[in-house]
Amino acid sequence: MEGNRRDNIVLPGTVVRFARIIAATALRRADAFFETLEKMPADPRRHVEALARAEGPHALYVHMPFCHQPLCRFCCFVRYPFDREMNRSYMKALAAEATWLASTAEAAKVPLVYIGGGTPSIDVYALAELVDVLRSYFGRGIDVSTEASPLDIDDEAVQVLRSAGVKRLSIGIQALSNERLRRLGRLSNTVEDALRAVEAARGRFETLNIDIVWGIASDTPETVYNEARRALELGASQVTFYPLMPAPGLRRLLRERREGPWHPMEPRLYEAVLQAARDAGYRPATPWCMDQGSELIDEYVVDYDRFLAIGLSAIGRTEGYIYVNTFTPERYVKLVAERGHAAALAKKLTVEEDMLYYASSMAFGLRWCPEQLRKRYGLLARGLNAMVAAALRILGEQKRDGSCYVLETPGSLYAAHAVQRSIYMAVNGLREWGMKTGA
Ligand code: SF4
Repeated sequence: MEGNRRDNIVLPGTVVRFARIIAATALRRADAFFETLEKMPADPRRHVEALARAEGPHALYVHMPFCHQPLCRFCCFVRYPFDREMNRSYMKALAAEATWLASTAEAAKVPLVYIGGGTPSIDVYALAELVDVLRSYFGRGIDVSTEASPLDIDDEAVQVLRSAGVKRLSIGIQALSNERLRRLGRLSNTVEDALRAVEAARGRFETLNIDIVWGIASDTPETVYNEARRALELGASQVTFYPLMPAPGLRRLLRERREGPWHPMEPRLYEAVLQAARDAGYRPATPWCMDQGSELIDEYVVDYDRFLAIGLSAIGRTEGYIYVNTFTPERYVKLVAERGHAAALAKKLTVEEDMLYYASSMAFGLRWCPEQLRKRYGLLARGLNAMVAAALRILGEQKRDGSCYVLETPGSLYAAHAVQRSIYMAVNGLREWGMKTGA
């Protein structure tokens, strides 16, 4: 972080304050949205009708909820300790839900399948079988992106995944020192496991991503910069730097302790991530994903504002409609057996909700296209376009790429990061609620 200060990325205080204000507004709105959704059980008949209306390109998200033990303390995903029997029943139910989906959402095209978790790689042979089933329904040519634990990735696993046609592999490394892993509460693997996994996978997939988490209490700009540089030097095509995103339970605790949800040096830590990426020759594809020109990135929501979803806790969004599947493996298996799908919550989106979602995913993909928004949402888009365009100009952006702004100054990247973190924190709230209630 030292060296020529003129080249160092520095976020002005006004930019940080502005980003925090819009992030707080986004968090309030997103929390309120999910609290409403929690009170809206899915109506199976309407669910079928909504998915039968799905047309055109949709990504498909598949959730694999089982993980190696011990489960990571920092994690807000819906995940359960691996159990061979339960995993077997779950994989069968998943294939059955895929069958239901393919015959219901017949008019939807699925060019991309994103398999997340949990730990999809926990049984790579079962994963490869699932990919095969999905190809039989959604087309041989689908792009497949999957997450993996370093514990599972060795030469044999790489061969299985390559034969299944996995195009993008994302290894959840999270930290590159055993001390950081301990502080995060990631105890299922060591740094040595992580390095071995990267070694086995490097150069063998079209895109290799590694995930790193930042924002733990002991972080300083120097530790984050050094960690980021090490990660960027491992030879992956992209590195995604996730900030810690506490769910409401942890947020309450942090408030009581007069800490968080922001790390006291959070803007400096984000500067360190950007600085390390710039110094290593990587460019932001999202505020968190530092890339070297890959086709697929970690966040399928950037390229697909509409996505179908299967598996427990999976969230789908199609034209004017959002749904969330049930949160426990037992209930998931039972619901799929009874009715083919496992939707637990669903809501018809208002035009404003739809627009805010669309707009936030556009900004997360580092673009703002006023004309596109106006075409889709008419007069309703006017106020939002005027506000965002004014803010982007203050943050130093200009219209380019036809009629769109491309977000690339540190200020606008920081603002996009802050807003997206709020949205994901609210999603974590939904997950926390779902796990607690067993919805
Ligand atoms: S961080 Fe990943 S591996 Fe750890 S518990 Fe969460 S989903 Fe499982």
